Amino acid sequence: MSGSLRLALFGPPGAGKGTQAQLLKDKLNLAHISSGDLFRHHLGEGTELGTRASEFMNKGLLVPDGLVIGMVLGEVAGLGQDSGFILDGFPRTREQAEALDTALKVRSQPLDLALLVSVPEAELVRRLGGRFICRECQAPHNLEESQFTSPPRCERCSGELYQRDDDRPDAIQVRIGVYQKQTAPVLDFYRERGLLKEISGVGAVEEINARAITVLGLDSPGQVG
Ligand code: AMP
Repeated sequence: MSGSLRLALFGPPGAGKGTQAQLLKDKLNLAHISSGDLFRHHLGEGTELGTRASEFMNKGLLVPDGLVIGMVLGEVAGLGQDSGFILDGFPRTREQAEALDTALKVRSQPLDLALLVSVPEAELVRRLGGRFICRECQAPHNLEESQFTSPPRCERCSGELYQRDDDRPDAIQVRIGVYQKQTAPVLDFYRERGLLKEISGVGAVEEINARAITVLGLDSPGQVG
């Protein structure tokens, strides 16, 4: 049976949103909707949307709302009425947050919670520079230089690992700036509605996940979904 929690995950690039989304998805049996993964999928398939989005993604800029909103809300609309979900990387602008709010109201399924994973900037820069993604299962890996194998392989499925264009140093700085300017203000949207919770994203992955489970109020038996 799928869980029914409706959650949006926030955090600067490199905060570990994708990793936490995967863990929460598996533990709570939720659908995982990642706007970045959807764009990368479109790009891989060579669609027009993928090509248009990549012009912005490669520079570390946000893809225009007009391209993002329809794509993500289309995914949400495709879920079963009672299916819970984790939004990962969406909404990133006030306009996206308002469009999501309206779409979920129409379904009578408002968001339960917005969860912010916060990490200091110096740590983000260090992490993103060593981040590699699996081409097969999209799992993110953090590789120190000493861990490089040739070619690097995924520890989950042995797929090939690659570094995203937007994880190169110049794009990293742009993405952090874009987050601070365009996405951090979206947090106020949820704070004003009493939906925002925050956890520290520093520490071991399982430790951070335990914080998320606690803050979601799901750490006592029988409370899941
Ligand atoms: P992510 O995998 O979430 O880091 O997203 C990678 C890139 O995709 C971002 O740097 C943006 O260029 C684009 N992107 C993903 N989600 C959004 C969004 N909600 N709004 C605008 N651009 C997005």
